[in-house]
This record gives sequence, structure tokens and C-alpha cells, in this order.
Amino acid sequence: MASPYRRVLLKLSGEAFGGGKVGVDPDVISEIAAEIKQVVESGVQVAIVTGGGNFFRGVELQQRGMERRRADYMGMLGTVMNCLALQDFLEQAGVPTRVQTAIAMGQVAEPYIPLRAVRHLEKGRVVLFGAGSGMPFFSTDTVAAQRALEIGADVLLMSKNGTDGVYDSDPAKNPDAKRYDSLSYNDFLAQNLKVADATSISLARDNKLPMIFFDLGVPGNIVRVVQGEKIGTTVHA
Ligand code: UDP
Repeated sequence: MASPYRRVLLKLSGEAFGGGKVGVDPDVISEIAAEIKQVVESGVQVAIVTGGGNFFRGVELQQRGMERRRADYMGMLGTVMNCLALQDFLEQAGVPTRVQTAIAMGQVAEPYIPLRAVRHLEKGRVVLFGAGSGMPFFSTDTVAAQRALEIGADVLLMSKNGTDGVYDSDPAKNPDAKRYDSLSYNDFLAQNLKVADATSISLARDNKLPMIFFDLGVPGNIVRVVQGEKIGTTVHA
């Protein structure tokens, strides 16, 4: 497969990992791993940020009475479990990997060391970034933009589960919602669209990082989006 990209940052939503439930769904993760293998074998360097919504979201735990900061740390730990699950299926498929976490946990992962991450990528290893930013009050969308910038990715590929791009309103609630093929960072922010948080969009805007939102629920979509096929919604300057 040919690709317009040399290095990509793929954000994988936690929801996908769980197949709609709490925990991890091995069938879903092995399919994701098989697609990533195809991408890596084509010579494209792949770094991944995992979400954690299949375990915990800090805001949701807060609504149920927990203290936000502690709940956010639980959310970050969930993202590490997703990294380890995906690492396992990638390694089983013969793809070399490294997990780097923003919260130190030497027995299971390397600490986040950006220059080392780049070296791994250059050697053809998939690098999985876990534990978000290591800081409460952030989202993994924002971390995905930050990591993409720090490792010099050409594009930020934002997978969503069951949503094939950015809509002008929530398609789950409004049957007349319209999908954008592309839109500018500023239009995204002005319309207060909820598909990613505003911090991630403004970070991408300020550093001219292109973003593509696409549906992870369609088999083959990771390969398609890396090949440059026009699926989903492109967010640009
Ligand atoms: N989180 C955090 N700081 C970060 C990244 C994540 O506190 O830098 C916490 C936050 O509670 C969040 C949870 O981890 O709700 C899971 O991440 P996210 O909601 O972004 O996962 P996704 O929706 O992509 O599955």
C-alpha cells in the first residue's frame, strides 16, 4: 500500500477497545492489531495514543461522587490497560512494540521519553503512549495532538467509534445532522462541536497539525485513512 504519510499518530478511542462494554474485547483488538500490522509493513511509522473510556472517565466518576483528580488518575490507568492489550495482539502478530507511559510504572512500560520514542519508530516499532498526559483535567484527544507534535507526526488520525466524521450536530440526537468532508479548526471551535475537546483542536490549529476524524467501527478504515483515502472529516487551517 502507498501512503502520503511517513509517520502517523493514531488516536484509538477507549470505547472501541471495549466493543461497547466495560473492559477489553480481544476480538476487536486483534482486528485493530491486524490493520496496524498492514500499515507498519508498508513502511509507515505508527504511534498510538489510547483512550480509556471503556474503563473510566474522570468526569463520569465525579458525577457519581468521586473527587475529580483521583478519578482522572483512574481514567489514565485505564488507558495503560488498553495499551497492554493492544501491545499483546501486535506482538502476537509479529509487530515489535514499545509502551511508554506518562506515569512511571517501570515494570510494565518505559517512561515517556520522546527522543527514544522517535528512535523506536525509526526502527519500525509501534509506540503506544499510555496514561494520557499524566495530568488530571486533560483528555487523551489533547494528548494525541501533543504527542503527534512532539514526535513530528505528519497527521493526527482521530478514530471514533461508530461515528464516521464530524457533524454539525450530534447525529445520535438529530437525524438531520450533516457531516463535513472538511472544516477549519476555527469553524470547529466556533460551533463548539463535541467530537473532540477544544484544547486538542486549538493545539492542532496553533501548530498547523492536520487532523482526520474517521470511524474505527468499519473494518479496513485504519488502512484506508493511512493510504490517504478520503474517508471521514479533515480538520485543517
Ligand atoms: N485523563 C486525564 N488526563 C489525561 C488523559 C486522560 O485525566 O491527560 C483521564 C480522564 O479522566 C479521561 C480518562 O482519563 O476521562 C480517559 O480518557 P478519555 O476520556 O480521553 O478516553 P476516550 O474517550 O478517548 O476513550
